[in-house]
Amino acid sequence: MILDCAQYTGPCPCGRTHTLTTRQVVIAPGALADLGAYMAQAGLTGFRAVIYDTTTHSLPGLVHIPADQEIVLNAQGLRPEQSLIEDMMTRFTRPPEVIVVVGSGTLMDFGRYSAHKLGIPFAAVPTLVSADGFTANICSLLIDGHKHSIPMKAPDLVVCDLNILSGAPMALTLSGVQDILAKHISLADWQIAHLVSGEYFCRRTCDMARESLDVMTRCAHGLAAGKSPDYEAMAYAQMLSGLTMQLLNHSRAASGAEHLIAHLVEMHPPGFESAHGMHGECVGVGTVLCAEEYHRLAKKERITVRPFAPLDETWVRAAFGPLAPGILRENEQDVLNTFPPEALAAHWPEIREILAAIPAAKDFAALYRVLGAKYRPEDIGIAPARKREVLDLSAAIRNRLTLMRMRRLIAE
Ligand SMILES: [Zn+2]
Ligand SMILES: [Zn+2]
Repeated sequence: MILDCAQYTGPCPCGRTHTLTTRQVVIAPGALADLGAYMAQAGLTGFRAVIYDTTTHSLPGLVHIPADQEIVLNAQGLRPEQSLIEDMMTRFTRPPEVIVVVGSGTLMDFGRYSAHKLGIPFAAVPTLVSADGFTANICSLLIDGHKHSIPMKAPDLVVCDLNILSGAPMALTLSGVQDILAKHISLADWQIAHLVSGEYFCRRTCDMARESLDVMTRCAHGLAAGKSPDYEAMAYAQMLSGLTMQLLNHSRAASGAEHLIAHLVEMHPPGFESAHGMHGECVGVGTVLCAEEYHRLAKKERITVRPFAPLDETWVRAAFGPLAPGILRENEQDVLNTFPPEALAAHWPEIREILAAIPAAKDFAALYRVLGAKYRPEDIGIAPARKREVLDLSAAIRNRLTLMRMRRLIAE
């Protein structure tokens, strides 16, 4: 399949004119052999730096791409950290005119960041689709220990060779499934925020995320029924979701309260030192926790709201320890304070309808259990007794209007 991304761009009923850096996404068996032709078509010419890590460089069956310079990073300890990427950039023998990255989502951030810094195009060759960031123009970087979502260069071209993707370990593929099924929560959060606060909303982009979710849901149930994995459909779902981030210039359609739980794991606040897991796995556990909490809230026929109060500084300091100053800064202009709390109560019937469309926590858990995916807090190194803290802390990590954050306005 070849996705011509122009179909998603242009004037939109939401009032914006959407643009995409990504022109083409190729998803096909053996696609890598034709990479040169795809690159020429996209006008990606000139001094070509090709970035691998030690794992992807020696992948069995991988066709090595002609390169003016190859950089092979040590896969051990590779993480999306600004200082590591800047280190890598010092290794360019001359300023490249195009960057090609052959690897996982983490390695893509090295391409995305450096291409952005150098103002040059880049082509992404995913070797596995364990998350949906490949077509995104945002990368979540660790800067001084804090996770920051910052705008970055989206790939001009993405080439998914199904011969390579189908060789990825199943745990990584499942992590990718969970990253997309999380949209049940993130789309609900976005719709609710739009209702309550009038936050910008784009129906067309929401529908793309919904399509990604529907395609991946079919793939997940197929897998659970013992069918062989549909790598083409799964890659399509991932790419489509990534494109929504590019269309919006933020991750609203792809990341809600459940993703903040994954961020919590990466930040390791006090008491969560042993939390661990791949992005999709943590998001998967987050999805189950959010589904449980959102359905609990949805049982209330009506709610009583209370006035906005900023996050309690004493609580933030106790909960986040050395990370507290960053959390306090993030919450200075709290989005909860941008609408009257009464709006939450007034829209509660519609909110309940949105929440009713989210599968039950036990259904997510049952599916993930059959697939052999992670779904319980203890699967990612968090004691089950800390569930409530997970919800409270994660909602404070980012100043994004999720229903999880709105709970502070609900009197219970
Ligand atoms: Zn739109
Ligand atoms: Zn994600």
